[in-house]
Amino acid sequence: MRYGLLALFSLAVPATAGELSLVPPIECDLTGPCYIQQYVDHDPTDTASDFTCASLSYDGHKGTDFALPTRDMIDQGINVLASATGTVRGIRDGMEDLGYSKATASQIEGRECGNGVVLVHKDGWETQYCHMRKGSISVAQGQQVNAGDILGQVGMSGRAEFPHVHLSVRHDGKVIDPFDPDDVITCGETETDTLWSDVPPYRAGGIISIGAAAGIPDFSNIRANTVPLPKPTSDALVIYAYLFGTRKSDVIHLALNGPEGSVIKRDILLKKPQAQSFRAIGKKLKTDRWPAGTYTGTAELRRASDVVERQEFTLTIP
Ligand SMILES: [Zn+2]
Repeated sequence: MRYGLLALFSLAVPATAGELSLVPPIECDLTGPCYIQQYVDHDPTDTASDFTCASLSYDGHKGTDFALPTRDMIDQGINVLASATGTVRGIRDGMEDLGYSKATASQIEGRECGNGVVLVHKDGWETQYCHMRKGSISVAQGQQVNAGDILGQVGMSGRAEFPHVHLSVRHDGKVIDPFDPDDVITCGETETDTLWSDVPPYRAGGIISIGAAAGIPDFSNIRANTVPLPKPTSDALVIYAYLFGTRKSDVIHLALNGPEGSVIKRDILLKKPQAQSFRAIGKKLKTDRWPAGTYTGTAELRRASDVVERQEFTLTIP
């Protein structure tokens, strides 16, 4: 009898005593359309390394950036969620979703987090959510929240160059990478000891979006998803791919097929690592109009002999 009681006691002690269990802070599929652009920097020097020793970070980054693919998605009101049960310690709202540039830097100084929420949890844990959409914060100081509760929406306030929610996790004031809380890096290996109840997928770079255009588009239009579609008499037919986390020697394969077969295709070798970039190829109009019908665009990001990611779109030319 006594033996049985002891066994019960040992079962009652949680395996993760004192640890925090997290859910993703964004209500969006992280295998696409949303993605993780940057992780906590584990490199003490002035270069950056994420927890897999890859380059999805930047020097001194103290959190994880959960991104929307394009700026127009802010208007859809994508929810920011509490990653764990806790109490609201503080909020800030009212900053514009301007994004960070030289022109906005002075307005942002000292308020890099933008509109944000800080939650306190048990045992000295704290989570912080940054760059939220102006006017979206729906919790108040002192309020109790459960994991998964809505805090507000994803925006681009403060020091943000693309729409995302930055999640910082701290324990007794120290920055903790929820993907690698013990800070012991095993390059290339997937961590099993994380703070996540269900570990978000690690995408080692990929395709954020693809589309068609009537000429080489402006990067600002690609990032806002406001690239005008080609018309039957447009001067050119262009296919573009918006990429993240690409590495040196990656290849982006672009192809556009129309009702009369291949319009254009090319493999482009990427010569340096880039956090975000785009590539586009196109063909000039040589007759009076483009053939009417359905066009299919394909983009494939290739690394060595692997296809990292692939996306397709269709376009109808009337
Ligand atoms: Zn960040």
